[in-house]
Formats: sequence, C-alpha cells, structure tokens
Amino acid sequence: MDLNKILRRLLCAIPFLCTFCTPREVSQKEVDEKVYKGQCYCGGIHFEAKEEPLFTQYCHCNKCRNIASDSKNPADKKGYNFTAAYLTKNFTITKGQGELTFIVSNSSRLYLCSHCKSLIYGISQDPEKQGGIGINATNFQFAEGIRPPSFEPVRHIWYPNRTVDFDDKLPKFKDAPTEQFGTGELVQ
Ligand SMILES: [Zn+2]
Ligand SMILES: [Zn+2]
Repeated sequence: MDLNKILRRLLCAIPFLCTFCTPREVSQKEVDEKVYKGQCYCGGIHFEAKEEPLFTQYCHCNKCRNIASDSKNPADKKGYNFTAAYLTKNFTITKGQGELTFIVSNSSRLYLCSHCKSLIYGISQDPEKQGGIGINATNFQFAEGIRPPSFEPVRHIWYPNRTVDFDDKLPKFKDAPTEQFGTGELVQ
C-alpha cells in the first residue's frame, strides 16, 4: 500500500468502510478496456459502465436534492448532483438488480438502492428517449479514488436553484441546454 493511501486512511473518520480512503483496487484489464465500476453506499448494487461518459455535469435542481435527502451516502448530500451521461447499452447492473427500486419524477424513472436509497441512475419514461441514461457519478469507484479527466463536468444546470456557489469557468444554465429539453439560457 502506498503512503498516500495510508495517509488517507489515517485522516478518515470511518477507515475501511469509506470508499474514499479505501478505493477499490482497479485491475489493469479494467483500465485497458475502459470499464468504470461503481457501487451504492451499502454495496447492495454494483454496476459498470463501458467506455468514457458522453459528458458529466452538475445539477442543482430541487428534485435532485430531494432524492439525495433520503440517501444514506454523505457524498450524495453536497447540495447538488454529479451525473454522468452514458449510452444505455454501455451500462450494466452487475449485482443487486432485485434490490433496485424506482420512483417516477417528471418524465424520468429514477432507480435507487432500496436499502441505502442512493440514486443509481435515471432514464426517460419515453421509449424514444431511452438510448441514454444519467448515472449518479458519485457512486463510481475510480482508480486511487481520483476522477479521470473524461469525468470532468462540462456544465452546471438549474444553477439559480443552487445551495452551493461554484467559482469555475463552466457554463451555468438557468435550466438545461436545449438538447436536454431546456431553454438553453445561461446565467451570469
Ligand atoms: Zn445501497
Ligand atoms: Zn437535478
């Protein structure tokens, strides 16, 4: 184990339970084949996503905060959601399919772990729009716990609803870009 990992464990309040200080060992095969694995907070649901995300973004909407309020995962409760967009065909639940529950919110179906209530992914209710999904990117377990460059967020959506300010250069949308069925209006 390297010094960084030991330090992180020493600094953590819940060593060995925490996925931040105890990142899952990522095999070279996963790295080579660009497979990103993740799991919910309680470990009941495991999933994997192949290849890089289409994009990732931060969502500041009230709906996301509401859903996160039931989650047992402190990482879900930062006040905004971190979502990775993927082609549905590249996403697989590898463990705990039967542990998933869903809620319907607007036109989407949001799948959560029925135990820890962490959001796993959301998909449109409309069969025409089910080619892509939004994965709760907080649940990915990256090599060494470090977010890869392909997961760097490209924008903020529903920014006026925020509870946390961001001092970054990313575009901040009043609601969402037009391709996500928003007005495309920017704030600031
Ligand atoms: Zn869970
Ligand atoms: Zn949201």
